[in-house]
Amino acid sequence: MEDHPTSHNQWLTLSLSLPSPFSPTHSSSLVMLSQHQELAQPSKLQAARRRAKKATKKTTKTATVPQPFPWATTKRTIVHTLEHLFANKIISISGTVECKACQKQYDMQFNLQEKFHEVERFILRKIQGMHDRAPHCWMNPALSKCGLCDNTMVPMMPKRKRNINWLFLFLGQMIGCCSHYQLKYFNSHQDIISTVAKNRLVYLVYLGLNKQLKPPFDL
Ligand SMILES: [Zn+2]
Repeated sequence: MEDHPTSHNQWLTLSLSLPSPFSPTHSSSLVMLSQHQELAQPSKLQAARRRAKKATKKTTKTATVPQPFPWATTKRTIVHTLEHLFANKIISISGTVECKACQKQYDMQFNLQEKFHEVERFILRKIQGMHDRAPHCWMNPALSKCGLCDNTMVPMMPKRKRNINWLFLFLGQMIGCCSHYQLKYFNSHQDIISTVAKNRLVYLVYLGLNKQLKPPFDL
């Protein structure tokens, strides 16, 4: 067993370093240490098992999650198609924004059809010049003002990334408010290889959501 040389060395070092009043003979120090080792090993093993269990827990994710919104599916970062949403009479998408200064929160509603066409038209018109990067207006979203103090309001972000209101952010063209980490999370669930530049990540999220809402026809 490969552990032996190490344990033996440890034992040797420890037995020599023990102060003599507490170890009258070599044999007694040996007993003391071997007992100590016997006690120490299982706890080390338990700790290692706990660490392994924790690591497994972290990396193992369920395939589905509780549906965070009626317009979202049970798959992380995947929303329903427009066809499905209209068939289910979901015509308005809501979300919460918060004033950066006074923290007052507001519920906002977007008309799904109207806002989707606005974003889609923008993409169709500008995509050639985007060169796979989000334009300035996507990187710096035009945000609404707080009714109380006139400061800017930002979309509320949930603690858990799986509960991000992607469709609300898309329709309000507020994807640029997401952190680098949140954008990478979205893209990792679309099987997009990790990329660094934020304007590239934002661009990919817009195109990804556009495709989810209106998938291309497969003949
Ligand atoms: Zn305010």
